[in-house]
Amino acid sequence: MCGITAYCGNHSALPFLMQGLSKLEYRGYDSAGVTILQNNKLITVKCKGRLKNLEEKVSHYQFDGSIGIGHTRWATHGIPSNLNSHPHNNSLNTISLVHNGIIENYRELKNELIDKGYTFQSDTDSEVVVQLLDYYYNGQLLEATQKVLKRIEGSYALCIISTLEPDKIIVAKKESPLIIGKSKDAFVVASDIPALLEYTKDVYFLDDFEMAMITKNDISFFTHEGKSIQKELTTVPYDTEAAKKDGYDTFMLKEIHEQPYVIHETLRGRIFNQQIILDELKDISFEQFNKIYFVACGTAYHASLCGAQVLERITQLPVLATVASEFRYNDPIIDDKTLTIFVSQSGETADTLAALKLAKQKQATTIAIANVLGSSISREADYVLYTCAGPEIAVASTKAYTTQLVLLILLAYYVAQRLNKEIDYQAIEQLESIPHYVEQILKDENIFQEYALMLKNLHDAYFIGRSLDYASVLEGALKLKEVSYIHADAYVAGELKHGPIALIENGSVVIAVATQPHIATKTISNIQETIARGAKVILFTTSHEDIKNIDNVYYLPQVSPTLQSILVAIPLQLIAYYTACIKGCDVDKPRNLAKSVTVE
Ligand code: GLU
Repeated sequence: MCGITAYCGNHSALPFLMQGLSKLEYRGYDSAGVTILQNNKLITVKCKGRLKNLEEKVSHYQFDGSIGIGHTRWATHGIPSNLNSHPHNNSLNTISLVHNGIIENYRELKNELIDKGYTFQSDTDSEVVVQLLDYYYNGQLLEATQKVLKRIEGSYALCIISTLEPDKIIVAKKESPLIIGKSKDAFVVASDIPALLEYTKDVYFLDDFEMAMITKNDISFFTHEGKSIQKELTTVPYDTEAAKKDGYDTFMLKEIHEQPYVIHETLRGRIFNQQIILDELKDISFEQFNKIYFVACGTAYHASLCGAQVLERITQLPVLATVASEFRYNDPIIDDKTLTIFVSQSGETADTLAALKLAKQKQATTIAIANVLGSSISREADYVLYTCAGPEIAVASTKAYTTQLVLLILLAYYVAQRLNKEIDYQAIEQLESIPHYVEQILKDENIFQEYALMLKNLHDAYFIGRSLDYASVLEGALKLKEVSYIHADAYVAGELKHGPIALIENGSVVIAVATQPHIATKTISNIQETIARGAKVILFTTSHEDIKNIDNVYYLPQVSPTLQSILVAIPLQLIAYYTACIKGCDVDKPRNLAKSVTVE
């Protein structure tokens, strides 16, 4: 995965390329580079490391060329290094490109090109594309690109410039995102919307197997076979401010604090007179399904685990949540009587997208739950529901997770309503007040900051819960390990005595969640077992039973158990956040992670 930018217009290309890359750094940040076409020469500047290294390097150049391409990399083939950074150029330095994705057959292609006398500068898969372009170029860059696209297998978003046709950029897409913006005096290209917003809100979403030829004043679209096509310009509803930090130290903290608002936005217009309105799904007849699958990765999988339990409780249909990378290779038993729901913040998660394509092949009905408008998963699915979290920049997901939970709970009640099942109207009413409860919990931030002090010197942390609380603790543990690098594991509380309790010793910290009344006392008994072995406990609960000897108890608002996973997410996020801050970690860009996992 990576971030791509490109500019073709009346002004210097560099400012757009660099500001765009800074907005896209969350997509990949192990190296960065730009190529500017200037005085009919390609000038490429690239280097290993964060974007600031590139900023320093470009400051030594006088760039005023008005066509250029940029890239922030998250390496898949070849270590992060200056030579492996993009853009990649042919040896005559007449063609330059940036690539997001993986060229699966690059080895064969590379050998073939070496046999023809080509030499390679890098270990990347991407470089074969530029060398192939060189090989096929015969006076028409568009045509050469089409020939190359026939040869390459895998995923790609490509932006190509050349001194041989110095007035244009060629872009092409398959399974990696690419969006083209149209401003008053330029066309601007990027992997994601925030990179474009300072320049325009009017965009074309390029679909798989589509390409475009862009000049200063004109754009034309084609299929990969070269057939001319028309695309519609869409106006995106975000504004530039939404993509900035708003005075918070980090995007993660800003995004945690945005939750009351974005949950409200996600609920907006979806509840009326205690009825759930999800018109996007009105054409589905839910009676046809005998089973439901949720498919997702990471945090979205944890939201799915919760969604699946709620949906199963309410509809009494078998509902299973499964990890996309398992689903896609395990020959799942699904057919036209299966409803499959795919959850992904970015809507670009490679495994989830592949799982979705598999479900479609097997005739299942598909619903996408995504945050990014026009993303691949949302375009591919039969039906789509959007969370309204806005751009999420911090790599560790917070607001996207809670808005997913909200939308999945809405979906569960909606399906129940459509199937004439009994509905807990009080829960629906309380759902509308969730933003208010989240605000209340955020006021206790200093308490969670204190809890973080208990964790800061630990090597391991233990999270326990049962039922819906188990999904919550899985997410709590993931958040802690993602941003603070403390090894954290989540256990079904009833499983402790079957193994994990062997790890508990004097000074261990156990974070427990017990919000489900039917099972809370059982979890609290398990907590007592850990205290007896020397553990310090932080408990999130609504129950007052048998907690006298637990030092740290935080009482959550008394709302329907179905909704508790949304509320308990907030303290768990803040504990992870403050632990990471105390340890001096880069919370927005944790090591080894990238925001949108567009490779498998
Ligand atoms: N596969 C390419 C590389 O390793 C592109 C990776 C990316 O999308 O950043 O350079």
